[in-house]
Amino acid sequence: MADPKGFLKITERELPAHRPVDVRIQDWREVYEDFDRGTVTKQASRCMDCGIPFCHNGCPLGNLIPEWNSLVHGHDWAEAIERLHATNNFPEFTGRLCPAPCESACVLGIDQPAVTIKNVEVSIIDRAWEEGWVKPLPPAVRTGKTVAVVGSGPAGLAAAQQLTRAGHDVTVYERADRIGGLLRYGIPEFKMEKRHIDRRIAQMTAEGTTFRTGVDIGTDITAERLRADHDAVVLTGGATAWRDLPVPGRELAGVHQAMEYLPQANRVQFGDYDRAPLNAEGKHVIVIGGGDTGADCVGTAHRQGAASVTQLEIMPKPPATRPDSQPWPTMPMLYKVTSAHEEGGKRIYSVNTLEFLGDGEGNVRALKLVEVRRTDKGFEPVEGTEREIPADLVTLAMGFVGPQKEGMIEQLGVDLDGRGNVVRDADYRTSVEGVYCAGDMGRGQSLIVWAIAEGRSAAAGVDRFLTGAGSDLPVAIAPT
Ligand code: SF4
Repeated sequence: MADPKGFLKITERELPAHRPVDVRIQDWREVYEDFDRGTVTKQASRCMDCGIPFCHNGCPLGNLIPEWNSLVHGHDWAEAIERLHATNNFPEFTGRLCPAPCESACVLGIDQPAVTIKNVEVSIIDRAWEEGWVKPLPPAVRTGKTVAVVGSGPAGLAAAQQLTRAGHDVTVYERADRIGGLLRYGIPEFKMEKRHIDRRIAQMTAEGTTFRTGVDIGTDITAERLRADHDAVVLTGGATAWRDLPVPGRELAGVHQAMEYLPQANRVQFGDYDRAPLNAEGKHVIVIGGGDTGADCVGTAHRQGAASVTQLEIMPKPPATRPDSQPWPTMPMLYKVTSAHEEGGKRIYSVNTLEFLGDGEGNVRALKLVEVRRTDKGFEPVEGTEREIPADLVTLAMGFVGPQKEGMIEQLGVDLDGRGNVVRDADYRTSVEGVYCAGDMGRGQSLIVWAIAEGRSAAAGVDRFLTGAGSDLPVAIAPT
C-alpha cells in the first residue's frame, strides 16, 4: 500500500503547471512545465489501495493502478514501469491523451479530489525512457506465421507489438506517409510531441515489426492479395469518415474539415511545409464542435496567430461544479476544459449553424447561427435569435461516423453493424475467416485507451487462431 494515511496527510491534488500562455502559444511544444518527482511520489501516496479499486475497473486496459502508485511511493520506479507495461503498451500516449476514466472512477474522489493517476502514469514512463529501462523485447522463438495489421494508430500499434512479441512476422500497412494514424496527424504537437511515437516505432522495429507506409490496402494491394499473403489480417484503420455539415454555403473556400486543417499544422512540425497552406493567421476562426478535436483546432489557431477564435457547441453550457444530482466524481468527457481554452477565444453554447455566407468571390465571410433549446424532440431553434458572426476560416470538428467503406472494407466483404462499423465477436473475429478488427473501425469513434485495449485483446485472439491453441497474450477487455 502506498501509505495507509497518505490520503489524510495530503488532501489536495498537485499537477504540473501549464507553461504561461504568452510563452507557449509562441511554440508547439507540450504545454506542461517540468514536474518535480518528489511531488509525484507524494501524490501517489494518496492512493488508499482500495479493497475494490474502482480505478482499475474504470480503465479499459485494467491498469494495475494501486500497484504502481505503491511502487512510486516506495521509490521503486523500475518495478513500477514493469507493472505499467504489463497492461499498457504505450503509457506515454495514454498519460498525455486519455481523459482518465480511472480518475473519474477513483474512490477517493467521493470525498477529496481523485488520485492524480494519469500524472503518475506519465511520470513513470517518462522516467523509464530517460533511464533507458524501455528496451526492445524481441521474441525468443519465431512461429513463421505472418500477420498484416492495416492501420498504424494506437490499436494497430498495440496489436502489432503484442503479435510480434508472440513470435509472428507482423507487417503494419499505413496509407499515409508516416506511421501513427490519428496520433501522428490529428493530435497537435502541443498535446503530444511526436518524438514519443518515433521512439516506439524504433523499439518495435528492433523487435521485428515491419512498417510499410504509403500503401493503401484496397488500392495499392487488393484485400484478396493481402489475405493470400498473410495467415491473419487485423483491421485497425479507425473511424475516418467524418461527419459533415450540409448547410447552404458549405462549398465556400475557407470551410474545411478539422482533419484537413490539423494534419497540415503537424506537417509544418515535420518540415513538410514552412507554413501550413490552411492557416489561421490574421483570420476570424470558427470551430464547430465542442470535443477534443475542436479544442485541438482552437489551440492550433491560437499558435498560428488567429485574429479571433470562436468555438460553437450545440449542447448547453455545462455546470461549473458537480450538480447535487450527481454524487460521483465529475465525468471528464462532459465537463472538461482543455489547455487550449486557457489560451483565449470564446465558446458559444446552445447554437446551431444555419448557413455559411460568402463574400461574392467564393470565400466564406460569415456564419449564420441560431440559438437552440433542447426538447423531447431534440434541439429546436429559438425564434428571433438568428445572428451572423464573422468567419474567414471554419473548421468542422463534429466527429466521425465510422470507417471508410470504399476499397478494403468493400473488397473484404466483412459484415457491418447498423452504424456502419465492422462487426466482431468476443474474440475480435470479423465475419471473414482469418480477419480480425480492433479499435474505432469496429467500436466507432472512441478513446485512445480503448484502442490500445482492443489492439491487445485482438492480438490474443489472432494468436489463438494462428497457434491453434491457447495464447499467453493478455486480454484487456471484450468488445462491447
Ligand atoms: Fe487508489 Fe483511487 Fe484506485 Fe482506490 S480507486 S486504489 S484510491 S487510485
